Amino acid sequence: MNRSDGLDRLRTSPASWDLIVVGGGATGIGVAVDAASRGHDVLLVEQSDFGKGTSSRSTKLIHGGVRYLQQGNIPLVMEALKERGILRGNAPHLVRDLPFVVPNYKWWEAPFYGIGMRVYDVLAGKYGFGKSKNLSKEETVARIPTIETEGLLGGVIYHDGQFDDARLLIHLAMTAVEQGATLVNYARVTELLKNAEGFVEGVRVLDEESGEELEARGRVVVNATGAFSDTIRRMDVSSARPIIQPSQGVHVVLDRSFLPGSAAIMVPHTDDGRVLFAIPWLDRVLIGTTDTPVDAPSLEPVPFPEEVDFILKHARRYLEKDPELGDVLSMFAGLRPLVAAEGAEDTAEISREHAVRVSDSGLLTIAGGKWTTYRKMAEDTVDVAETLGDLEPRDCVTRELNIHGFHRHAEKFGAWAEYGSDAPEIEALVGSEAGLEEQVHPRLPLRKGEVTWFARHEMARTVDDVLARRSRSLLLDARAAREAAPSVAAILAAELDRDDAWARAQEESFAEIARNYLPV
Ligand SMILES: Cc1cc2nc3c(=O)[nH]c(=O)nc-3n(C[C@H](O)[C@H](O)[C@H](O)COP(=O)(O)OP(=O)(O)OC[C@H]3O[C@@H](n4cnc5c(N)ncnc54)[C@H](O)[C@@H]3O)c2cc1C
Repeated sequence: MNRSDGLDRLRTSPASWDLIVVGGGATGIGVAVDAASRGHDVLLVEQSDFGKGTSSRSTKLIHGGVRYLQQGNIPLVMEALKERGILRGNAPHLVRDLPFVVPNYKWWEAPFYGIGMRVYDVLAGKYGFGKSKNLSKEETVARIPTIETEGLLGGVIYHDGQFDDARLLIHLAMTAVEQGATLVNYARVTELLKNAEGFVEGVRVLDEESGEELEARGRVVVNATGAFSDTIRRMDVSSARPIIQPSQGVHVVLDRSFLPGSAAIMVPHTDDGRVLFAIPWLDRVLIGTTDTPVDAPSLEPVPFPEEVDFILKHARRYLEKDPELGDVLSMFAGLRPLVAAEGAEDTAEISREHAVRVSDSGLLTIAGGKWTTYRKMAEDTVDVAETLGDLEPRDCVTRELNIHGFHRHAEKFGAWAEYGSDAPEIEALVGSEAGLEEQVHPRLPLRKGEVTWFARHEMARTVDDVLARRSRSLLLDARAAREAAPSVAAILAAELDRDDAWARAQEESFAEIARNYLPV
């Protein structure tokens, strides 16, 4: 993972790509991994940082989707449960089993959800994570010590997968590079290039760091820009009918004391009929989410105050210790790239299934879906791309392709476990020089040596890349992250050969971003 190597390849191979992928989220990077591992030549360009869009802003669950079970969408649940199992096999260092408790306050909830979860187990089959069962009131309290006990009758426990979305994305990006793909971040597609017959044959790319304009030509251009898909579709046909209906989902992050213990809470029906999760994550508690339609996509969507109120109000119903606005350590919003169905008015009703579309001029768009199914989305996309671009058809190999960092017993690396097989090298770097083992802030676990690693090996280019995605500091404690920015900027400036003015500009731009993660 080296940006200047990627840029050099982009400059020197302007006409040789099999696939050009636009968008560096789970979908685009998944396509790059799939195509490169089949032996195709792949270029991927991302306008900002990898994962800057939705893919770092999810609920961080690798799940079948209990809500789709409620909706009776059995094929979608089965596909997702299968993908969940495949992903745990390919990235055991990042996907872990998380027990969820559905607390029961009404007599009918125990049999109703008990049976529902048994169906979930059956659908998972050999890909199951653990058996569900009904819990007594005492067992429920033992699992969730801070659960609201007034009126509590018992609970139902079931199992799903949890991960760190941005970390998996970076490890997938490293996998893509190891398979031969060329990836460049901060490279925005500004125009689609067409041949004399009007077919899409490439992209014009703006290097956001230097301002240089470049061209790349290839057999197939894949539009994997999530909530931004229609922007690229309109570069193809200016009157293209929108297919994406973006919907915003917000999470708030609280101190772990609100939900100690190792189980999460799943609330199947909030006031507006949606699902709400309270999840232990990286020594904090993550609560969400909402589903609010928005008009236009943005790289930094901002939570609406009423969304934060909604989450806190429901959290108070289920937790003994009532969270207030002042308890919120961070809050963040993401945009679901939902593919609009004719006549659907409520975004919660829109399918989470993915859609692969080819325009008359040959632009291939892959949109919708979810993190859990990124691999299947990529397989379907590359199958279509091979036909569309007249590429040699090759079998998909990602069902059994280890993802970078693969390690069956990463827990033995303790605090470094999420780095998987990179952990010993990172630990060695951190211990190699005085000062590198220092934390960037007393309330954040991030060490200075890790920032160095991110710059050298994971293509981190800005303070935001380090604090929001390579580490999750901004999500864990937005105030602490803002205070850590000068120290991170100084390390990056030294690593990337930038001057003091650059470091100061980075601090300011990060302070601007962090403002949206702070409720008060
Ligand atoms: C609140 C919320 C919670 C969710 N929780 C879960 C969950 O727990 N589990 C799950 O499985 N799924 C979950 N999802 C769904 C999942 O996160 C998304 O389906 C997935 O991340 C979408 O990935 P993507 O690559 O399509 O989009 P993105 O991650 O948004 O990536 C698109 C990328 O394209 C880039 N781009 C745009 N225009 C250009 C251009 N002109 N040139 C170059 N690049 C460009 C953008 O910068 C962006 O990085 C959740 C979604 C939301 C919103």
